[in-house]
Amino acid sequence: MYYTNGNYEAFARPRKPQGVGEKQAWLVGGGLASLAAAAFLVRDAQMDGSRIHILEDSGLPGGACDGLLRPDVGFVIRGGREMENHYECLWDLFRSVPSLEVEDASVLDEFYWLNHDDPNCSKNRATLEQGASADTKNRFELSDEAALEWMRLFFTPDEALYDKTIDDVLSEEFYQSNFWLYWQTMFAFEKWHSALEMKLPLPYKMALHAGLEKLRGTTLDELLVRYELV
Ligand SMILES: Cc1cc2nc3c(=O)[nH]c(=O)nc-3n(C[C@H](O)[C@H](O)[C@H](O)COP(=O)(O)OP(=O)(O)OC[C@H]3O[C@@H](n4cnc5c(N)ncnc54)[C@H](O)[C@@H]3O)c2cc1C
Repeated sequence: MYYTNGNYEAFARPRKPQGVGEKQAWLVGGGLASLAAAAFLVRDAQMDGSRIHILEDSGLPGGACDGLLRPDVGFVIRGGREMENHYECLWDLFRSVPSLEVEDASVLDEFYWLNHDDPNCSKNRATLEQGASADTKNRFELSDEAALEWMRLFFTPDEALYDKTIDDVLSEEFYQSNFWLYWQTMFAFEKWHSALEMKLPLPYKMALHAGLEKLRGTTLDELLVRYELV
């Protein structure tokens, strides 16, 4: 999908590129990026699938999606993935992938209706000591200094974060906040994890700030909705 100020160009189908029938595409790594590139090559460049080759180093494709080959159900992702409304490329891709279970529906349709009918929301966002409510009152409780630390991290150049842990860039005052409790439990961060790993996805994760205290704003894949939250 090509974005301009309106949707004039978004829905027009690209012309078949010249010579695409004689070309080969070699993609390194069998993660989502390569799989998505392959799907767009088939859909938009009209390249035949037999001309697309994905080289994967490990025994199982899927990369960070943590795949598992289960003979009873097929190739699945272990655990769920949280997404949100602005995964523009993914939604564009999902609209072209037919649903396996619902006739005449795309994966996007299926995903959308699932999240529409059963929207993500946690009445008790965090628990402590084997189930007692953390009673966070849905507040971030970020002090001005802690909020500044977060903003500073956002604006720190990547190079300055090489070899730094989260503990090197955030302080005890930050860890005292409910915000850290929400963030840490949502994205599985420990203080000794890489500061850069936490910083890199911040631009898109910022969109999740509104709703973080109730896990609103995320859309969830079927696995998570069916088995973890219900
Ligand atoms: C535990 C966990 C939870 C996550 N939760 C979410 C979530 O809720 N929402 C979300 O949006 N994202 C989430 N992510 C991130 C998301 O899964 C990744 O961003 C995405 O899967 C990355 O895809 P990729 O193709 O860019 O890279 P990868 O999946 O890392 O794929 C790269 C592939 O390349 C292979 N490779 C590397 N070098 C070579 C080589 N030289 N030759 C051949 N093959 C090579 C690797 O083996 C790997 O399979 C999560 C990630 C993890 C680990």
